Amino acid sequence: MIPVTKPFLPPIEKYQEKVNGIWQRAWLTNNGPLVNDLELSLKKYLNLKHLLYTNNGTIAIQIAIKALDLKGEIITTPFSYVATTSSIVWEGCTPVFVDIDPESLNINPRLIEAAITDKTSAILATHVYGNPCDVDAIDLIAKKYNLKVIYDGAHAFGTKVQGNSLFEFGDITTTSFHATKLFHTIEGGAVFSNDSETIARMAFHRNFGHDGPEKFAMVGINGKNSEFHAAMGLVNLEYIDSILEQRKKMSHLYDSLLFPQLNAYRPKIYDQTDYNCSYYPIVFNDEAQFHKTLTELNIANIFPRRYFYPSLDRIPYVKEDPSLVHSHSISERVMCLPLFYTLSEEEVQLIARLILRIQNYG
Ligand SMILES: *Cc1c(COP(=O)(O)O)cnc(C)c1O
Repeated sequence: MIPVTKPFLPPIEKYQEKVNGIWQRAWLTNNGPLVNDLELSLKKYLNLKHLLYTNNGTIAIQIAIKALDLKGEIITTPFSYVATTSSIVWEGCTPVFVDIDPESLNINPRLIEAAITDKTSAILATHVYGNPCDVDAIDLIAKKYNLKVIYDGAHAFGTKVQGNSLFEFGDITTTSFHATKLFHTIEGGAVFSNDSETIARMAFHRNFGHDGPEKFAMVGINGKNSEFHAAMGLVNLEYIDSILEQRKKMSHLYDSLLFPQLNAYRPKIYDQTDYNCSYYPIVFNDEAQFHKTLTELNIANIFPRRYFYPSLDRIPYVKEDPSLVHSHSISERVMCLPLFYTLSEEEVQLIARLILRIQNYG
């Protein structure tokens, strides 16, 4: 069986070493030494001033919305994981969807201005598959209309734009360190901001609003993460360069085997980007070809995934929007092929050969 993804696991001894330390200290959570160490190590690796480690990437988005005190409407992308939209609704705001650019699969900045009303407070965009949004265009619009910007960077670990981490952009960027992500801490996430006041607010939100043991600065939630999760992160961080390298290698192998023969396309990567290859999506020219390919691959015990599906305006607690033509159409024919650390060249060759055979011989 070849699944779409498999979590990276380091040698178990390395994790056990960290766990031994946790046992000695008997300090399991609440800003322990490993959580601190992970935050410092990530700052150093990503070359960023501020970040806060959280218990997942969804709480990270919710804390970001709370910290910026967003109200009313938030302009967002319909082509993302459900957590992007559900967090907006959970925080009592209304998602207003803007269609994606069919080439990059990210929110189309040329359509954003028309969606702005006097209730709009922010733009929440996802760097889909780790491919940067048009951050310059979004920044210009946000400045012009005095809107906040949050990026859901759940896929963006390791992507660089002009040499800088993609987590640098917007008022806040969030990410996920879930087991299926390229860099993971089993469950986990983070918030990033260049503004120290915003970081201070998010630190309160993450820890029940505690300002000392008996005082509360503002409303909070439990967004902390544990020493066990931080331990996994610290060990996995030792392997991050080899994880990124391996993904790039396998992605290039898929590219060379599938294209130009395949009647499908790959998302266009943003200018001056060192892309992390966190997923391997292909967009088929039509939905029938998608379904035929999926069925045949499943018969061969290969399980790619329709990701993202459905378009997020089609989940039950928001309003469907017929104008989102690209999000609707692409979510129905996009396929993420298996891509993970232990995927072998032979497996990539097998998958590519099958996909082309299905296209050419049915
Ligand atoms: C994984 C993911 C999230 C949620 O992260 P969790 O850590 O699983 O809560 C949010 N947005 C996107 C785009 C994701 O892929």
